[in-house]
Amino acid sequence: MDSAASSLTPEPVLEKMMEFYHGYRANVDRGIHQLSQKASEEYELAHRKVAQFINAKSDEEIIMTRNTTEGLNIVANGLKWKKSDKIVTTLMDHHSNFIIWQRVRQRHGVKLETMKPNEQGLFDLADFERAIDDSTRVVAVPHVSNTLGTIVPIRDISKIAARRGALTVIDAAQSVPHMEVDVREIGCDFLAFSGHKMCGPTGSGALYMRGEVAEQVEPMLIGGGTIQDVSSEEFRLATGWHRFEAGTPAIAEVIGLGRAVDYLTQLGMENVRTHEMRIGKALHEGLTKIQEVKVYGPEDLADRVALASFNVGDLNPHDVALALDVSKKIMIRSGHHCALPTMKEVIHADGTARASLYIYNTAEEVELFLSTVEEIANGLT
Ligand code: PMP
Repeated sequence: MDSAASSLTPEPVLEKMMEFYHGYRANVDRGIHQLSQKASEEYELAHRKVAQFINAKSDEEIIMTRNTTEGLNIVANGLKWKKSDKIVTTLMDHHSNFIIWQRVRQRHGVKLETMKPNEQGLFDLADFERAIDDSTRVVAVPHVSNTLGTIVPIRDISKIAARRGALTVIDAAQSVPHMEVDVREIGCDFLAFSGHKMCGPTGSGALYMRGEVAEQVEPMLIGGGTIQDVSSEEFRLATGWHRFEAGTPAIAEVIGLGRAVDYLTQLGMENVRTHEMRIGKALHEGLTKIQEVKVYGPEDLADRVALASFNVGDLNPHDVALALDVSKKIMIRSGHHCALPTMKEVIHADGTARASLYIYNTAEEVELFLSTVEEIANGLT
């Protein structure tokens, strides 16, 4: 019950990675020979699969990264900043979509304004209307909070941003694995997510960059694979994902991510969401019924994913996590979840215990989890 941190890896994904190592282990885009050709085809196919999965217009808009954090850093470090620029972000962001903007402020003197949600993690869109003005360059928001499980209305926020000519940067680490995400319907400019949270290998992730804005981003790394032409005097960078993927990439991991996308597509993202709503409802309702337990996040099921942050009396959340592990081998996360501003300024807690479910969790597991939390809570009285 810790898939928000990282998911398990299904056999077909492992088999696909081994297929590369056993069958065509060669570099990509760097050889005319058969093995390099095959590896390149599979590598490019993975770009197309990921593009289709989130409904990008072209595979050229998909940059393979190591994780969400890398994708977000590519955007923050790659835009050319002016002192008069403004960034709007939120107190519900993971550090990966928060401190990068604080650093832009440190380095370039831009203005940074943070939107505060209520205790359930729900925003008032009027706050965004007010904060996003003509000087706003970037609006950076999470699609789903990894701490509270709240789903953020990113379509509405992207619309407000677009009206003012601001770019939207979406941290989709907790949404792409769990629900249908359509970048064109959202209308965002950048969207980052991690392969390792969606049945893919560790060291895999992707950044969607809308074709029309890609030129505004200077690649963090350049070198082999990123050029169109080089002379003794100058170089010209390639376009599309080639511009951003410098050096030999994580070939097996990217191919594995492509297979993970197939795996989820075969399950159907609607079915994934339906299953998670069902077990998530049991998780949330069960926890709220235990007297000593405080549950964080939205009350309305439609506003949340199958993730529950909670505390048991005044027990340290690490002790709660340890008790669940030691007594029943139930593994959850505890602590501040890399979202200290959310802890300090939204829910006013030092930390929480967090159970996060995925496709392989069952209703029986949720029952066992709830009865064990109840035993821990009873130990308090
Ligand atoms: N954003 C959110 C909302 C997350 O939950 C996480 C992972 N906990 C990240 C960003 C960072 O992901 P990664 O470690 O794969 O870069």
